[in-house]
Amino acid sequence: MRAAVLHGVGKILLEDRPRPEPGPGEVLVQVASVGTCGSDVHYYEHGRIGDFVVESPLVLGHEAAGIVVQAGPGAERHRTGQRVSLEPGVPDFTCAQCRAGRYNLCPRMRFFGTPPIDGAFTEYVTVHEEFAHPVPDTVSDDAAALIEPLSVGVWACRKARVAPGTRVLVTGAGPIGLLCLQVARAFGATDVMVTDVNPARLARARELGASAILDVRAESLADAAFEPDALLECSGHPAATADAVRAVARAGRVVLVGMGGDEIPLPLTALQTRELEVTGTFRYANTWPAAIALAAAGRVELDALVTGHYGLARVEEALTAGARDPELVKAVVRPQE
Ligand SMILES: [Zn+2]
Repeated sequence: MRAAVLHGVGKILLEDRPRPEPGPGEVLVQVASVGTCGSDVHYYEHGRIGDFVVESPLVLGHEAAGIVVQAGPGAERHRTGQRVSLEPGVPDFTCAQCRAGRYNLCPRMRFFGTPPIDGAFTEYVTVHEEFAHPVPDTVSDDAAALIEPLSVGVWACRKARVAPGTRVLVTGAGPIGLLCLQVARAFGATDVMVTDVNPARLARARELGASAILDVRAESLADAAFEPDALLECSGHPAATADAVRAVARAGRVVLVGMGGDEIPLPLTALQTRELEVTGTFRYANTWPAAIALAAAGRVELDALVTGHYGLARVEEALTAGARDPELVKAVVRPQE
């Protein structure tokens, strides 16, 4: 099978590799669509994200969907031909975090496209059968792949306790911000403001249901007189994060989704005097069923986020498309093309 392999900063080669055999409890999946993520771009450009360093050739890609083509020993959940959305991180199932239900915090997590685990920019992958989630035929291959970033939005909204009537501020209108916006609305949020510095992305946010948009280059958040109960910080931008925290209502929730610098200043006085809750988010746990249900019911729009398709030989082009086109939202790789 062919695989697009990262061989160092800025260098991806198309290679022939043996097709993997599904192990006990695993299925072999023929990959149909793989979304490209900012973290894939970051590994491609820098060779590392924080403590995760690419030290040997690595296949990127972790937003994947496809078809079950073979079951390993003891794997009985799926029939051959079942369309599935892949949850790309399989934990050890036994550690204290896993037993507490927080498997996203498992220290022995094996996650697609994160060193040293290969990802899905390839024709076939193996995955634990319970992490291959069936999708109905009304959900496209691209949408099934984007269940992964949608899950980030579901997790963020759960952490922020978004409920009917909650006022939400989403900072950053990239793919994750646009998905957080849609999930917040699906969870019953009424007023959802989205901020960014990119007019095309803000226009997209408006189309996807933002009740207000704000270009923070033109107008400051402080002047906008919007007091959210929940902040979903998706920009990773230090100044934008601090400004947004200052806007949050008393007893509000601050959920840090975007990855900014290792250390950024936060307005402690606002946090203390308003008793704000601040939490990070690391991926997600138990989100696929809800995310698939939202997509299948048409409560969220995933296909509209896809702005380009690329065959396996064009993965580099997919990863660099965002730098060339400010209107790009989501580039999708189709490994069978
Ligand atoms: Zn564990």
